[in-house]
Amino acid sequence: MKNHFDICVVGAGLAGLHSALELAEAGSKVCVIDPIGIAGGASGTPVGLANPATGRFASRSWEAERSLAALINRLDQIQTKTERKFYKQTGVLRPALEEKVALKMAENIRSQPWEDGTVEWWHEAKVKGFHPGLTCIGGGVWVRGGLTIHIPDYLTALSNHLKEIDCTFILDQRFNIEQKNSWAFSFESGDSVTSEKIVFTTGIWSKEFDLWTPLKLFPVKGQTAIMQSSEPIQFEHAVSAMGYFSKIDDYTFILGSTYEHQFEHDEPDQKGMDYMFNRLQRVLPDLANSSKPISKWSGIRASTRDRRPLMGSHSTYDTCFLFAGLGSKGLLYSAYGAKCLSKHILKGASLPRELDINRFTK
Ligand SMILES: Cc1cc2nc3c(=O)[nH]c(=O)nc-3n(C[C@H](O)[C@H](O)[C@H](O)COP(=O)(O)OP(=O)(O)OC[C@H]3O[C@@H](n4cnc5c(N)ncnc54)[C@H](O)[C@@H]3O)c2cc1C
Repeated sequence: MKNHFDICVVGAGLAGLHSALELAEAGSKVCVIDPIGIAGGASGTPVGLANPATGRFASRSWEAERSLAALINRLDQIQTKTERKFYKQTGVLRPALEEKVALKMAENIRSQPWEDGTVEWWHEAKVKGFHPGLTCIGGGVWVRGGLTIHIPDYLTALSNHLKEIDCTFILDQRFNIEQKNSWAFSFESGDSVTSEKIVFTTGIWSKEFDLWTPLKLFPVKGQTAIMQSSEPIQFEHAVSAMGYFSKIDDYTFILGSTYEHQFEHDEPDQKGMDYMFNRLQRVLPDLANSSKPISKWSGIRASTRDRRPLMGSHSTYDTCFLFAGLGSKGLLYSAYGAKCLSKHILKGASLPRELDINRFTK
């Protein structure tokens, strides 16, 4: 094994693997380190949506179109390397379930600086005509470019590609880090590696490293379930309304998600299941009546006060960087964020002010 690298990326989720790809493509010798494995954290979510019309009122997310385009580029690139189809441009339908929510959604679509064709406001009859049986009050938003992605499958294919372009992976081993002339990693196997620079992409675990303890990151637990329907599922698009629902195949779909700011354990539980099922009953009552869960999954998101990621270098060590806090928009922000971070690390480019790690400090 090579043992000196330009950059070690610590954490093999969406943030870590997108960062590793940007850095390796720019010519750096990269090593990815993760004691749990590929998609061992929140990025293990079985199926997720990339949707730039976010929150209750379908607000335009920061750099919506640019972020989505960066993700689609990467998905297309990696999809050519594997026969296993891991994503689809399904579109995302966001029906309002209350008149006052519909009014705010319509206003957001009208007044925010969306690029042409990204989103459309649909009246209630159009939503119901497009998706018979869907609950909708007052209209809804059609997000044309929204995607449904099998995240672990994507990240597995992405890691295989990274290996092909000579990126090294050290997985399933605990380690210690020391700052000497360079960053020195010693693994429980007795192996060691060093690197000039280090990038932490460790999601909610970031605060467990002494270097990053003061970070303002908040844990938000999320549960999902894969559901089986006894009737064929008649729609191809994803639905996002009080949770999200997206078809996996003719008889299965993903039911997501909870947003738990207080929790006692990080496993799936009946309370989370009941919460999601109630939402399914409200939004898609026929599907709820014909469905039962066949598997459950939970993970912990790392969220920030303004719901945008944190990115930048350590206040003491200018060769140490972080990219975390992707909250519930890891798909949307990880590819574009990795591009910004890589240019910052390799070329000294400024980071977007909106993502800067120091934006909450006076
Ligand atoms: C239920 C649920 C549903 C979601 N749905 C969506 C969705 O529809 N759309 C969307 O965009 N986002 C969604 N998200 C959010 C998305 O999953 C996250 O934003 C994203 O996965 C965060 O990626 P990350 O790489 O920053 O963190 P993580 O994926 O958590 O990666 C951190 C990595 O660090 C590793 N690690 C831990 N300890 C160490 C250590 N000591 N050293 C090195 N590595 C370590 C972990 O193994 C892990 O691989 C959802 C999240 C959940 C939980």
